[in-house]
Amino acid sequence: MYQVTVRRLSLPPWSHWRYGAAFPNLPMFNILGIGTDAAGRCTHWHTEVDIIANKCQQCQAYYACYLCHNTLTTHEFVPVAKTALGALCGSCGLEMTGNAYLTQTACPRCQHAFNPQCHLHQQIYFC
Ligand SMILES: [Zn+2]
Ligand SMILES: [Zn+2]
Ligand SMILES: [Zn+2]
Repeated sequence: MYQVTVRRLSLPPWSHWRYGAAFPNLPMFNILGIGTDAAGRCTHWHTEVDIIANKCQQCQAYYACYLCHNTLTTHEFVPVAKTALGALCGSCGLEMTGNAYLTQTACPRCQHAFNPQCHLHQQIYFC
């Protein structure tokens, strides 16, 4: 027999690192942002379908949205090439290229729906 231990994390209200240390068996990814929840929703975008995080080319880190990024860093969000991995599903941790993400309406791995309105901001995130 083996024991299963469930630990509750008490997380700071913003800009936290998730999962990795306490839950090594879960996929390792972190989404930085303000008031981010377990799927990468933030204080700016927080409906059921707002689960995509985007990578800043300069930081090489995933942020819940560019508003979070621009608040937490000292530079404007730098877009990532559409052919590079730059989008992260906050539901399952799948990384996608901009090209792959922009042609999907749901995550190819976990099937979680994406917010179609995010595509309106694609010039901020991809180049
Ligand atoms: Zn950055
Ligand atoms: Zn945000
Ligand atoms: Zn997914």
